[in-house]
Amino acid sequence: MTARVRADLPTARRIVVKVGSSSISGTSSWRIPKLVYALAEAHGRGAEVLLVSSGAIATGMPFLGLDSRPTDLATQQAAAAVGQNILVYRYQEALRPFGIVAGQVLLTAGDLDDAVPRSNARRAIERLLGLRILPIVNENDTVATHEIRFGDNDRLAALVARLVGADALVLLSDVDSLYTKPPTEPGAERIDTIAFGQDLRDVEFGSTIVNSVGTGGASTKASAARLAAGAGIGVLVTSADLVAEALAGDEVGTWFEPADVANAALTGPVDTLAR
Ligand code: GLU
Repeated sequence: MTARVRADLPTARRIVVKVGSSSISGTSSWRIPKLVYALAEAHGRGAEVLLVSSGAIATGMPFLGLDSRPTDLATQQAAAAVGQNILVYRYQEALRPFGIVAGQVLLTAGDLDDAVPRSNARRAIERLLGLRILPIVNENDTVATHEIRFGDNDRLAALVARLVGADALVLLSDVDSLYTKPPTEPGAERIDTIAFGQDLRDVEFGSTIVNSVGTGGASTKASAARLAAGAGIGVLVTSADLVAEALAGDEVGTWFEPADVANAALTGPVDTLAR
């Protein structure tokens, strides 16, 4: 059943958790076991957990001798090809003590816009979940061009949550919640809850960030959260460090109340819904 409030998270049946590149790559790769511990706990209570993880490019960078994110698409793709493999290996190693097997799912925006690949993807994910395998989703970077990139995995996570009719979506980054202005600025206040349809014009989320490892930021989180909330999915935005508290339903992060609609898995095209 849809998580309508934070306290519903511990009993949510199907949960999509998204984590950003900077939280789990480079000197932050130690966080993978911590994240996996919380996911395994939810899995252990019977929840169906899907992980959407960025970090392919960032994880691949050192293997290509790069210390910052490449700017050209071909080198980004090369770094992703190397890094995706290592990233999933790290997750699988962390999942092994819990007896959980990971399944890699790579999607493009085009796949979700198009009825046949969309239903193929949904069927495959449903089967993985039915087999108690933990799907790990990322953008299929080697075939994505600038024009058709999701742009950031926040949007991908919202679309996956809709695709599978998730009960909740948890967006994890390095920041504990959304703020009324960038948290480094004076007077920034934590936003506890955002009602569905609430006017956010006065909130300064800042522009989309392209930093040394990935892309995203508060604005992409807010639009992804609204995309999912509009389909009746409750969304929590918080930091990767607070994942256990988030899944336990504690008062952390920013909660986006879901629209009061039946939470049916997305069957129609998503492109018109998404932008
Ligand atoms: N799919 C990209 C990766 O895994 C997303 C990173 C980004 O552009 O934010 O590296």
